[in-house]
Amino acid sequence: MTNDHSFRVVAVSTTASAREVLARQNAEGLVAKALAELVTGVVLMRETMAPDLRVQGLIRGAGGKGTLVGDSFADGGIRGLAQVRTDPKLFSLGKGSVLQMMRSLLNGGVQQGIVDVGEAGGIGEAITVYLGESEQLVAVARIGSRFSESGLLTCGGFVVQLLPEAERGTHAIMTQRLEDFPSIDEFLEKPDFSAQLLLDELLYGMPYTELARSELRFHCRCDETLVLSALASLNRDDIQSMIDDGEGLDIHCDYCGKDYLIAVERLRALLESS
Ligand SMILES: [Zn+2]
Repeated sequence: MTNDHSFRVVAVSTTASAREVLARQNAEGLVAKALAELVTGVVLMRETMAPDLRVQGLIRGAGGKGTLVGDSFADGGIRGLAQVRTDPKLFSLGKGSVLQMMRSLLNGGVQQGIVDVGEAGGIGEAITVYLGESEQLVAVARIGSRFSESGLLTCGGFVVQLLPEAERGTHAIMTQRLEDFPSIDEFLEKPDFSAQLLLDELLYGMPYTELARSELRFHCRCDETLVLSALASLNRDDIQSMIDDGEGLDIHCDYCGKDYLIAVERLRALLESS
């Protein structure tokens, strides 16, 4: 936050965690780019709105060709999902593609909003619209990613938020700076790209105080207890018929690719305990 309380800036480098998300999803091409930027977007959203709560973002590609999910948790864990059943080359963030943001509220509710990504012109731009329309924040978000033949090179982004106390002079400087700010790709191309690099450029010449710094990592939330509790919500007849089949269950986590083998004895125990 600038020392005069005019602006708050959140900057992230998501390269390593986004790379892992893409690897788990076997994502390629435009799907990979959109997914890397989506998980970056949910991290920025969480850090801006509610660092201690979960934020999820869902993108439906233009023409209904595929769905992407980004999931960001308070402990810095990130995961993502790419469900593109058609040719990935047909996936597009053009006209008709939408971003749906959902964040948990302290009272247990969910705040959400939908933005047309094609109209906004990108994922960062769509988040800017969401922050303005659904969260009533005067803010600018930018997100970018760079790829080589072999995959993701760098990925990151930022949110600059104008605070109610902003002084007119500082406001004018920052508005001009954001207008003239080079494309985020220029920063992503630097060999020493980092969140700090973005902060230094955005807040150049403005005294500021670092309020927080946190680590990000790929982390899936699935575990056997969660799988069993999901199974427990099935009705008794369905569980009984799995037991009668005698082969147990093989459950696959779409986020991380882990397989859970649930033996028949576990299913039987589930029936007895319920
Ligand atoms: Zn998992």
